[in-house]
Amino acid sequence: MSKPTLTINGMTVEFQPGQTILEVARAAGIYTIPTLCHLKDTTATGSCRMCMVEVERARTLLPACATVAAAGMVIHTESPRIDASRRMVLELLLASGNHNCLVCEANGVCELQALAYRYQVATPDFAYPPDHPYYLEDNKNLIRRDLSKCIMCGRCVRACNEKQVNQAISIGYRGAHNKIVTRADITYSDSDCVFCGQCVQDCPVGALLELKAMGQGRPWETHKVRTTCPYCGVGCQLLLHVRAGKIIKVTGVEGAAPNKGRLCVKGRFGYDFIYSPERLTTPLVRDKKGGELREASWDEALDLVAAKLKETIAKHGPDSVAGVSCARSINEDSYQMQKLFRAVIGTNNIDHCART
Ligand code: SF4
Ligand code: SF4
Repeated sequence: MSKPTLTINGMTVEFQPGQTILEVARAAGIYTIPTLCHLKDTTATGSCRMCMVEVERARTLLPACATVAAAGMVIHTESPRIDASRRMVLELLLASGNHNCLVCEANGVCELQALAYRYQVATPDFAYPPDHPYYLEDNKNLIRRDLSKCIMCGRCVRACNEKQVNQAISIGYRGAHNKIVTRADITYSDSDCVFCGQCVQDCPVGALLELKAMGQGRPWETHKVRTTCPYCGVGCQLLLHVRAGKIIKVTGVEGAAPNKGRLCVKGRFGYDFIYSPERLTTPLVRDKKGGELREASWDEALDLVAAKLKETIAKHGPDSVAGVSCARSINEDSYQMQKLFRAVIGTNNIDHCART
């Protein structure tokens, strides 16, 4: 059966029933529909109104992210009427916060900034400070919430509730007091938040930030290195943001299996152990029970472990020892570890640390 078709910018394209206008346009290589609240793989809300398009015979402009495509539609993604609408949305967003790009951490990656530039919209004259201070919260040296930059797109809420399924935040209050809240509107630190940082990764502006990355470098001063998370055995894909040889932040790789951009608190924020002066870089051994630890060579340490294993097995049998291997080891190393314990030592006491 042939697929239904519609027309976008004079081009006839096929689509799958159920696709939105935005999905049909992007599948056809048309990227002239800007978005802010749209977050792939989550519920469309159509709340920011940036993606408005003209559909012939429709009474009003329609949000492309939340309008299901229909056969025979004739759609225009750019026109003077659409431009005027998008400019007005940008003016209102710029007027309702403290969008000072000069000192903002998101300068260079902010989607609002990019659209203001694209549509040449300056902060409008009617911008005025609110009659209450903007909310600012720093949490555990991990996440900053600066609601003076929040544009209420709701992406953080969908990232938390639909991508990570943590249900830690929602949209609270009404009208001018509208704001992103945790349950009972308490701080992230005191709430159900598990500090996965997904909301930070998906925020399109500088309202949610990694505290450890602040002041460490502008986005264009960093390069990204793709790697695998060093913690558990899931193997999440990371991007290390590196400036002058130093990791300044970590994000998940969008669309890549197994995590599809998502990370847990360890993968996202637990990278700075590599710079700890307390990190062990050589084996340590104790010459006598209760004595001080001293640095040793790998040969000395391995000889000591082998001797102690032999002594314990000789005295108490093979089931008196157990092996716990590292979950980040490659398959071949893990295979050898279980072979050593099962075939050489003769015990099934073998496991790896991702089970703990
Ligand atoms: S850090 Fe994770 S759990 Fe906490 S609010 Fe953000 S997405 Fe939700
Ligand atoms: S904090 Fe960021 S993601 Fe959340 S509503 Fe505000 S601008 Fe959108």
